[in-house]
Amino acid sequence: MPFEFTAAQNFPDYTGHKCMVARHLTPQMYEQLYKLKTVNGVTLDKCIQPSVDNSGRIIGLVAGDPESYEVFKPLFDAVINEKHLGFGPEDKHPAPDLDASKLRGGQFPEQYVKSCRIRTGRGVKGFCFPPSINRAERREVERIVVEALSGLTGDLAGKYYPLSKMTKEEEQQLINDHFLFQKPTGHLMVNSGAVRDWPDARGIWHNNEKTFLIWLNEEDQVRIIAMQHGGDLKAVFERFSRGITEIARLMKEKGHEWSWSERFGFLCTCPSNLGTGMRASVHLQLHKLSKDPRFEDIVFGLQLQKRGTGGEHTEAVDDVYDISNRARLKKTEREFVQLLIDGVEKLIEMEKRLEQGQSIDDLVPAKA
Ligand code: ADP
Ligand code: MG
Repeated sequence: MPFEFTAAQNFPDYTGHKCMVARHLTPQMYEQLYKLKTVNGVTLDKCIQPSVDNSGRIIGLVAGDPESYEVFKPLFDAVINEKHLGFGPEDKHPAPDLDASKLRGGQFPEQYVKSCRIRTGRGVKGFCFPPSINRAERREVERIVVEALSGLTGDLAGKYYPLSKMTKEEEQQLINDHFLFQKPTGHLMVNSGAVRDWPDARGIWHNNEKTFLIWLNEEDQVRIIAMQHGGDLKAVFERFSRGITEIARLMKEKGHEWSWSERFGFLCTCPSNLGTGMRASVHLQLHKLSKDPRFEDIVFGLQLQKRGTGGEHTEAVDDVYDISNRARLKKTEREFVQLLIDGVEKLIEMEKRLEQGQSIDDLVPAKA
């Protein structure tokens, strides 16, 4: 640069912005951080770009690489503390617990639970996350992970299908069947630059039954998913746990591991996915409860989140909602699945009451 601009000259204009970054990034903090770079050359400006280009109620922050969480710590810590409802300097994410046998319940009637899905995000250590990754790195991540996946056996064994080799029809069918991501259009992915070079090095790996699937180079480098029709969430958690354990082992055999931190657990692109990176969801049909004015608050009060039938930013079709754990940090995988099970049991109980014209007042949780 021929001459240097001051922090004040380069500070974003957050007039009218409602995102978390705008609330936490002070001029003083910007001054302290704006010239720093991670080992991969990621800057603070790269990480906050979504907050500048979008004025809505979003987080507005992405990690360009695992080191961003350390180098830009003051901002990441403040945002993580708010997003995860309190995560102070002394707090530490617990060690993984993937033991499906310890779950209580988790086998739901198909009348209500149409399908179950559990996914997590991962990054390969030593590589940038999607907002900052370059083409060569992205292809290398694809190669490393697909090679590891080729070692899966039994019900987990499968095949890789790169997006570039799929027809538009095949791609759309996989999206319609809820198996595949679509080219992201949301602010997080677009404003962070994570959709560059689409569809280069993007793809999906899945077993024959499409009950174990891995997405390559979407919002995270890797998304690992177990899913199946019907209400057996316990079986899905069992397969999910076995799958992620096996993949980590196969990666290790080739000298690779996931990006991970002692304090935060698994590291992902979006700070909302830290910790377990896990979102366990059921497609739950609630003809009655979804029409109750308290529905939104009830789901929130159970520490759950609702999305539409097609996922984030979609509407429910035939009253089928995607209900999942809202948080991903501070509890183990098993605890989050248990939280979902307990909440879904409650929601079904309320639905049954309403079907019989009875009151649900005593079942409504206090607002969280
Ligand atoms: P995420 O980013 O957590 O993977 P999205 O909201 O982007 O989730 O949704 C991704 C896809 O997964 C969508 O097609 C969505 O309908 C599908 N999906 C999510 N939960 C379930 C479920 N329980 N059963 C079937 N499909 C699901
Ligand atoms: Mg998504």
